[in-house]
Amino acid sequence: MAYCATSHTPHISPKWSSSPRNALIQSRNRFTVVPIRFPPNIPPNVLKFDRIRSPIRASSAQLMEQNLGSRVPTIVDVDLGNRSYPIYIGSGLLDQPHLLQRHVHGKRVLVVTNTTVAPLYLDKVVSALTDGNSSVSVESVILPDGEKYKNMETLMKVFDKAIESRFDRRTTFVALGGGVIGDMCGFAAAAFLRGVNFIQIPTTVMAQVDSSVGGKTGINHPLGKNLIGAFYQPQCVLVDTDTLHTLPDRELASGIAEVVKYGLIRDAEFFEWQEKNMNALLARDANALAYAIKRSCENKAEVVSLDEKESGLRATLNLGHTFGHAIEAGFGYGQWLHGEAVAAGTVMAVDMSHRLGWIDESIVKRVYDILLAANLPIGPPECMTVEMFKSYMAVDKKVADGLLRLILLKGPLGNCVFTGDYDRKALDETLHAFCKS
Ligand code: NAD
Repeated sequence: MAYCATSHTPHISPKWSSSPRNALIQSRNRFTVVPIRFPPNIPPNVLKFDRIRSPIRASSAQLMEQNLGSRVPTIVDVDLGNRSYPIYIGSGLLDQPHLLQRHVHGKRVLVVTNTTVAPLYLDKVVSALTDGNSSVSVESVILPDGEKYKNMETLMKVFDKAIESRFDRRTTFVALGGGVIGDMCGFAAAAFLRGVNFIQIPTTVMAQVDSSVGGKTGINHPLGKNLIGAFYQPQCVLVDTDTLHTLPDRELASGIAEVVKYGLIRDAEFFEWQEKNMNALLARDANALAYAIKRSCENKAEVVSLDEKESGLRATLNLGHTFGHAIEAGFGYGQWLHGEAVAAGTVMAVDMSHRLGWIDESIVKRVYDILLAANLPIGPPECMTVEMFKSYMAVDKKVADGLLRLILLKGPLGNCVFTGDYDRKALDETLHAFCKS
C-alpha cells in the first residue's frame, strides 16, 4: 500500500541534559517524578517469578534460549491485588483446555467474535472450553468485522444476545479476536448485569502485545476514539501464538507499532533488540514473535500494576496515540489500521520532542528507520490538515482543564514524559511540518 510522503526535515538542536531513569509526569500545576523501575529495582509484587518466566530485563539471548514458541506457556502476571490475573503466552495453548477452563465461572459462556475470526478459531475455542467439561454450554455472537463497527449499535448486538439467551451473572464472556473485539467484549462484560467475568483470547499482534492486557475496554464515538468505556480486568489472557499464522502482513506490522512504543518509552534494551530482529518479526519467526509478545506484556503488566486507572504513568503507553487517534477519526475509522496511525503519530511526537530540544537527533533517525523497516507509515495521510488535528486532539482523553497533555520523549532512549508543560510553538511547527494545509 502507498503511504503519503511528507517533506519533513528534522529540526536539530540536541539540548537535553542526561536525565535519570525516570518518567516525568508534568502538568502546568504539578510536577511529579515517577521512577521507572529497572532491575534490580522491580518490586517482587510487580513481577513474580515463581513459574516459567524471566525477569523483565533479562538479556534477550537468555530469553530466546527458552524457546518461547514451545507448548509450555510462559506466564506473565498482571498484579492488581485480588483482581490479579495471568497472561498465558505460547504455541498450541488452545489445545490445552485446562488453561481456559480454570477461569470459567458458572456454566454458561458467551464467545464474542467476528465474521473473520469465527470461521478460523471459534470451533477450537468451543472445544477448549468444553472438552472434558460437559457441564459448560457455549454460545456465540458473531459481530461484523472492523474498527468502524466498534460502536454502540454493534455493542447492542452482544447485549441483545445475552438478554435473549437469559444469561445470568455467573456467565463468562470470552473475547475471541483482535483489539476491536477485545475492547467491545470487555465493555459488554463490564456493563452486562453490572459486570460478568470475562476472558481475553487475543488473535492479532496488536491485541497480544497490548489491548488484551490492562482492562481498558470501550467503543468509539463519531467525534472521538475510545471515548466511551470502562476499566474492567479479565480473568485471564490466553495468547496462542499459533493464531498469528493466519494474520495478514499489514495487521502484523500494525501490531509492531505498539511493540516499538514499549522500547521508546521505557525499555531501550528491547528497542535495540527490535532493531536487530525486525526482519525475524516480519518473517513470523516463532521465537522472535513470542519474545516480543512476552517482553511487551511484561512492560504493560508492570505499568498497569503501578497505575491501573491512568493517573499518570499509564498514560505514557499512549506515545503517538493523540496524533494517531486524530488520524483515525479524521481519516475515517478503519481507513488506516490503529497501529499505522500510531506509527505516524509516534513520528510526530518524536519530531516535536526534538523541536523542544528534549531528544538527540539520532533518536529521531532510529525511530524513522525502525518504522520504515516495519513497513509502517512515517507521516499522516495527505488529507489531514492542521485544523483537523487540532479539533480532534482537543477532545482527547488526556486533555485536562482545557490543557492538552502529550507523551513526549525526553533524554536518552527509553525515557519519556507525560506533560502539558511544553512550548505550544513546537506543537504548531510539528503539525505544519506534517500537513500540507
Ligand atoms: P482488529 O481487532 O480490527 O483486528 C484486525 C483485523 O484482523 C480484523 O479484520 C480481524 O478480524 C482480523 N483478525 C484478527 N485475528 C486474526 C487472525 N488470527 N487471523 C486473521 N485475521 C485476524 O484490530 P487490532 O489491530 O487487533 O486492534 C485495534 C483496536 O484495538 C483499536 O480499536 C484500538 O483502539 C484497540 N486498542 C485497545 C487497547 C487497549 O488497551 N484496550 C490498546 C491498543 C489498541
